[in-house]
Amino acid sequence: MNNTAIVGVNWGDEGKGRIVDLFSSDYDIVIRYQGGGNAGHTVMNEFGTFALHLLPSGIFRKNVVNILGNGVALDPISLLKEMKTVRDCSIPISPENLKISSRASLLMPWHVDLDVLEENRLANKKYGSTKQGIAPFYSDKYQKKTVMAGEVFDDELFMQHIEDLMAWKDMIIRAYGGEEYTKDRLKEFFEAIEEIKPYICDVTLYLNENRDNKRIMFEAQLGSLRDIDYGIYPYTTSSNTLASYAPIGAGCPDLKLDKVIGVAKAYSTCVGEGPFVSEMFDEEAEELRKAGSEYGAKTGRPRRVGAFDVVATRYGVKVQGCDAVAITKLDVLSYMDKIPVCVSYLVDGKETDEFPFPSKLNKAEPIILYFDGWKCDISDIRKYEDLPIKAREYIEFIEKGIRCPLAYISVGPERESIIYR
Ligand code: GDP
Repeated sequence: MNNTAIVGVNWGDEGKGRIVDLFSSDYDIVIRYQGGGNAGHTVMNEFGTFALHLLPSGIFRKNVVNILGNGVALDPISLLKEMKTVRDCSIPISPENLKISSRASLLMPWHVDLDVLEENRLANKKYGSTKQGIAPFYSDKYQKKTVMAGEVFDDELFMQHIEDLMAWKDMIIRAYGGEEYTKDRLKEFFEAIEEIKPYICDVTLYLNENRDNKRIMFEAQLGSLRDIDYGIYPYTTSSNTLASYAPIGAGCPDLKLDKVIGVAKAYSTCVGEGPFVSEMFDEEAEELRKAGSEYGAKTGRPRRVGAFDVVATRYGVKVQGCDAVAITKLDVLSYMDKIPVCVSYLVDGKETDEFPFPSKLNKAEPIILYFDGWKCDISDIRKYEDLPIKAREYIEFIEKGIRCPLAYISVGPERESIIYR
C-alpha cells in the first residue's frame, strides 16, 4: 500500500510510536500532520528508548524522508531539543531527511505562557492541558494570528509580524496579571529559529515532485476521542487527529489514502480530565498502571486506566475509517485472573452500544463482562496459534466488537515483539 495513515483509535498513548516505528522501513516518507509537543511517542529500537514529541518516527530509518506538515504546532525550541537528543545517539538529521513545511505555524513562547495562565485561572475546572501552548496556538492560528515558518526568510517582515502580535499578546497576558511581554523573552526562540531555518521548505512542492512511486506514511498524534470535532469535546486536543485530515495537514491535500491502520491498546488509558466510562479505581487501577507503566511520556503524570472499551473503540475505529487495527500491550494483561471488558453503556437507565454525545458521557455507566485470564508470559510468542486459547478468545471477542480485523498484536515494546495475523 502506498499511502497509509497510522492513527490512534482511543484517547492517545495507544502505542502508535511503536507501530509506526515497526512499519517505517516499508515507507519512503513519514509525515506528522497535526499536533505538537503535547504528547509523546515512545519508540524503543537499536539506538535506545526515545520519547518523540514532534519528530516523525521515521527519523531512525536510513533513507526515510521525514516531514513536519503544515498542520503541526511547530515549537522551534522543543523541536531543537528533540533533534539534539536524537543526534546525541549518532542518528543523523539533515535537511535531506527532515523537512519542515513553510506553511506550518510557529508556536510562540507566549502560547506556553497563556496555556499556563489559563489552566491556573480555571483552577479546579481545568481541562488537563499539558501546558505546551497547544490550545492557545491553534486558537491563534484560526484567528489568523500566527506566524508561518516560511516567513523567517524575510527578516524585516518576520520581525514586524512578531512585534505586532507581541503587542496584542502583551495586552492579554497583562489582563491575566502576567508580566509585560518584551522581545527579551524571545531570545531562545530566535536562536532556535536560526537553527531550524535550513529545514524549512515548500513541502507541498517537494511532495508534488517526489511522491510518485513513493510510499508515504502519515503519523498521527493522540487518538479519535481527542479529535476536536469528533472527540469528547472539550476534553479533546485542538486539532483534527483523524486520518481523513492527514493529507491536508501533511501538505498533499489532493492525495487519497490507500490504508488506515488504527492502534488500540489491550486495555484503556486516558491522560487528563474528562469522562472515562470504563475507568478502574484504587488497587485494581494501581496494579494495571504499574503493570503497563502507565505514566505520561511528556509529563510523567500517572495515567487513568480502565477496561478495554468496545463502545468507545468501535466509534474510534469508525471515525478513523480503519482497514485494520494493531492492538498493543496484550502482554500487560497476563497477570490478571479475570479480564474486564466494557461491552456497552447504561445511559439514563437504557443500555446502548452507540457512543453517546460528549455531555451525556458523564452519565454513562459501564456494563462489564469478565474473561478468564491466560496467566502466563506471552511476550516471546510470535505466532497467533501459539497464543494461549484464553488470549485468542479475548482478541477475537474484541475484534468482533470493534468490527475491524485485529491484524497486528503487540506483545512487548521491542520492534520484534509482534504477531502478524
Ligand atoms: P503513543 O503516543 O501512542 O506512541 O503511546 P506511548 O508513547 O504512550 O507508548 C506506549 C508505551 O507502551 C511505550 O512505552 C511503548 O514502548 C510501550 N509499548 C508499546 N507496545 C507495547 C507492548 O505491546 N507491550 C508492552 N509491554 N509495552 C508496549
